[in-house]
Amino acid sequence: MLHENLGVNEKGHLTFAGADVVTLAEKYGTPLMLLDEMRIRKTIRTYKQALEENFGAGSYPLFASKALCFKGIYRLAAEEGIGIDTVSVGEIYTAKAAGFDLKKAYFHGNNKTDADIRYAVENGVGTFVVDNEDELRALESYLAAAGKKQDILLRITPGIDPHTHKAIVTGSVDSKFGSAIETGQAEGITRLALSLPHIVLKGFHCHVGSQIFDIDPFTEAADIMLRFIAYIAANTGYTAEVLNLGGGLGVKYVEGQPVLDYAAVIREMAAVIKLRAAEIGCALPHILLEPGRSLVADAGITLYTVGSVKTITGYKSYVSVDGGMPDNPRYALYEAPYTVLLASKADAPSDFKCSVVGRCCESGDILQENVTLPKPVRGDILAVLCTGAYNYAMASNYNRIPRPAVVWVNEGADTLAIRRETYEDMTRLEV
Ligand SMILES: *Cc1c(COP(=O)(O)O)cnc(C)c1O
Repeated sequence: MLHENLGVNEKGHLTFAGADVVTLAEKYGTPLMLLDEMRIRKTIRTYKQALEENFGAGSYPLFASKALCFKGIYRLAAEEGIGIDTVSVGEIYTAKAAGFDLKKAYFHGNNKTDADIRYAVENGVGTFVVDNEDELRALESYLAAAGKKQDILLRITPGIDPHTHKAIVTGSVDSKFGSAIETGQAEGITRLALSLPHIVLKGFHCHVGSQIFDIDPFTEAADIMLRFIAYIAANTGYTAEVLNLGGGLGVKYVEGQPVLDYAAVIREMAAVIKLRAAEIGCALPHILLEPGRSLVADAGITLYTVGSVKTITGYKSYVSVDGGMPDNPRYALYEAPYTVLLASKADAPSDFKCSVVGRCCESGDILQENVTLPKPVRGDILAVLCTGAYNYAMASNYNRIPRPAVVWVNEGADTLAIRRETYEDMTRLEV
């Protein structure tokens, strides 16, 4: 099985976090997303402990909540004592509604509106991650009028391409995010931040990419950022307290991809980063990481009921399910790979090659192509694995399909996390 929270029981049904998923599909209906609560807590604890052990107190993870945003996940983050990365007032509002202490929230985004800035400052968001000079000036002018000060990090573009594992200095300088070191804009915005009376600069942020299995992009980014920190210290006398290295560690979606041991990865990162800091002569700042996908992806699966099964003679077979791109647009967006299982016949031999497709009026509404399953029939339950990240968060009502229910599973026990959307919910805004 892809992950250790999956199994097959004596009925031949897929189990997830100790529960029979076919039973849960009957109880809650489909499409249905299940979340393994203990797995999320364990991964959070792994990150938290590894960061503290290897980088000292003041180094901790922030959950990149764009990966999965709802009140329950913010409550869980609060209980586990970690921070959050938010990218919109909607996320901040949701965290607040869940009782999350916004002092531990970091506010990202390349285009914070004046209204966003006001909302975040008024509600006590701990740290802004300021993207560019324009935002910095808008924030300063709001703070000056409000008579407040605000902690910030500056988002810097180190120029790393995570997929070639090389510091290509021009690689991601051309990005809508951050200020580049190479162009001098990073130094410029740092000097500006230091000169503004209502801005309290705590340090720097960078984010190299996503679904990365190698530590090199992180250590290379850290190296470039530490050199920048040392350069700024030598030229302005300002020493950064915090270096946020962003998110991006990878998750196993399909066989052939590794399962990362996040504690080991952080230990390795720390060894390299400490060595580089010593070489550069830079005091090691507190290190923050912003995992999104790696905290929640493999703690989620989505269940569907199989509908029409058809074979186009001489071509291929299609298995249609009662969800699709509205609850998981990632194949349609970037042909994201997923593992698909027939959950109601999980022990039957797989010999039926097919594409698993959704129910939208859209040929691109595909969950996965060329999968091999036991031949399904109408009414079977199908599972797509590893859907905890960027699925519910990206869900839409395209074709007026209600968003699925989400259920916590905790060592076999199930509780509703998000109720299924109704047709009434969908027309609620319409006058
Ligand atoms: C998306 C994003 C993350 C999370 O990335 P994952 O790959 O989900 O870990 C963290 N920080 C920033 C700034 C991001 O844009």
